[in-house]
Amino acid sequence: MEIDAAADALIRSGRRLGARGLISAGEGNLSIRLDASRLLVTPSGRRKDELEPDDLVVVRLDHPITEARSKSGLPPSSDMAMHLAVHAARPDIGAVAHAHLPSAMALTLAGEIPDPSALPETAHFLPRLPYLSFGIMGSQELADRIAAALTEPPAPLPGAVLLERHGAVAVGLDIGQAEDRLELVEVLCRTWRDALLIRAARATVGIV
Ligand SMILES: [Zn+2]
Repeated sequence: MEIDAAADALIRSGRRLGARGLISAGEGNLSIRLDASRLLVTPSGRRKDELEPDDLVVVRLDHPITEARSKSGLPPSSDMAMHLAVHAARPDIGAVAHAHLPSAMALTLAGEIPDPSALPETAHFLPRLPYLSFGIMGSQELADRIAAALTEPPAPLPGAVLLERHGAVAVGLDIGQAEDRLELVEVLCRTWRDALLIRAARATVGIV
């Protein structure tokens, strides 16, 4: 993908995630595969809904990641291990998106794991949603488990994974599809949470 178009897509995606309340402070990270040897990724330590083109980092897969900097001098995302592992494992996709989805974090903090077959939209567009127990943010161990979950047969391969207390990682042919999948995970988790709360309230007041 041409770099200016990729930069524009990443910036618009970050703004949309912010506008929908799906990222806060410096949370979340996004990447687009430019070609076989380069990724364009969001930087560490910046709000992803206020990025400028010069804040984005070109990461060359054949160069040390530690040397990669944006034109504005920022290092790439602290979750680079995850982005590298997922792009390597899934050459069929062009983008990866990660956000600390609020309802997904609340549900998994409470030990609840939603079933995507419960809603028509997620049953169709996100039929598989593997759940991963907690891993250290940015670690190779978590990166490897995410990549393995996203390549676990049978087809169709999962479009997203749900992370314990850490939101979700989604993949897509482009960043728009990856972001759509993140939004669907959050809709599923929010609806699941609301249904649990309604059932609990009904039981508390004795309504049958
Ligand atoms: Zn994270």
